[in-house]
Amino acid sequence: MRGLISVENIEKIYHRGAEKVHALKGVTLQFNQPAFVAIVGPTGSGKTTLLQIIGCLDRASSGVVRINGTPLNSISERAIVQLRREKIGFVFQQFFLIPELTVKENVALPLLFSRKKVDDDHIMSLLHMVDITDRAEHLPNQLSGGEMQRVAIARALANDPEVILADEPTGNLDTKTSKKIFRVFETLYLQGLTVIVVTHNEDLAKNCKRVIELVDGNIIKDETK
Ligand code: ADP
Ligand code: MG
Repeated sequence: MRGLISVENIEKIYHRGAEKVHALKGVTLQFNQPAFVAIVGPTGSGKTTLLQIIGCLDRASSGVVRINGTPLNSISERAIVQLRREKIGFVFQQFFLIPELTVKENVALPLLFSRKKVDDDHIMSLLHMVDITDRAEHLPNQLSGGEMQRVAIARALANDPEVILADEPTGNLDTKTSKKIFRVFETLYLQGLTVIVVTHNEDLAKNCKRVIELVDGNIIKDETK
């Protein structure tokens, strides 16, 4: 089966002044749809770099990234931006909600960026998916961390993506709240999405169907249950 996303022999070298940082050293992976994947590893092992390359937020220094079989280096920057908007939803540790906008307005934002119609029923169905309809008119600072992250997940789902990429989404949350967030991800996986989550938390990673471990820019383990 052809993967939804694949990376082949990805290397990433950052330049910090005269110093070179070899963040990824030849990573090859394939992700199918659906999938529920944890990426684990110590700080500085390249997890964020890998996720950003998979999500077309950053470019690899060498190697090939394919989405639905199409190599990204064969299409225009504009086409990549469109692909990212339509296929991929991002979730971050710091939530990145807009403080002046209500929950509903935050969730509607990607639709505005994609010049799509904002339909109230659609927004409410997204809030329903993450069980937060009762906070629809609240501002982010009126929410708990777990609630903010669920709003961020609803926002990531607004454009009906095939892939959710989450970078330490529970890094600021307590254990119980983190478990709830992982249950939301599992539900999305069961609905057919490819969910890839970077996490420090080994216990949470065990909930995933596949665990990939990075150390020092290399994959040292890739286990599927
Ligand atoms: P992780 O997410 O696993 O903590 P990262 O992907 O953030 O790891 O970083 C991998 C390595 O690349 C680290 O050594 C980090 O310092 C370095 N790095 C990450 N981003 C940059 C950047 N923008 N410029 C220079 N070095 C970077
Ligand atoms: Mg990181």
